[in-house]
Amino acid sequence: MTDHQHSHGLPPKTSGGLIPGLIKGLVMTAKTAARPSHTAEYPDVQPELPPRTRGVIALLEENCTSCMLCARECPDWCIYIDSHKETLPATTEGGRERQRNVLDRFAIDFSLCMYCGICIEVCPFDALHWSPEFEYAEFDILDLIHEKERLGQWMPTVPPPPALDPKSAEPQEIAAANKPVRTAPTGSV
Ligand code: SF4
Ligand code: SF4
Repeated sequence: MTDHQHSHGLPPKTSGGLIPGLIKGLVMTAKTAARPSHTAEYPDVQPELPPRTRGVIALLEENCTSCMLCARECPDWCIYIDSHKETLPATTEGGRERQRNVLDRFAIDFSLCMYCGICIEVCPFDALHWSPEFEYAEFDILDLIHEKERLGQWMPTVPPPPALDPKSAEPQEIAAANKPVRTAPTGSV
């Protein structure tokens, strides 16, 4: 070691740690070689996946309001949504017309998706769900863009939601549905 090397902050060369390190490596290799292997025999044997596996994203089209929240939050920009507005006539005389979004296109490019689940988390209307299905590899990468029809076909494979904790509060929707109907007090106009 020269003064020149020390002046540049280089560590001193030693061979003290080389032999124990080599032995440690050989011991680890021997241990690993003796361990029984667990080869997954896929596709002959299907893997046992947890029910909440992130396999593919399913779309419940009737719940989607084209709000674009999922597309805006997707870190990979791999959700494509097209929609147009439709005017609904007033339901009562003198009432106002209403507008609603009509979904023209909803697609997810699974060649870009990183399965983070953000789109599913942010959807305010429960239109997106995880399905454990994972066998949709394609020869053509463009076929990994699933349009809304194909995304909808995954819905029957979505597992039902887990049961509520018995001590949890009643969901707001059920509480609202069970509320007694208010009747006008007798004698009021
Ligand atoms: S899982 Fe993540 S990356 Fe994939 S579409 Fe949803 S937000 Fe985008
Ligand atoms: S899937 Fe959900 S978040 Fe995405 S556009 Fe439809 S309603 Fe909005």
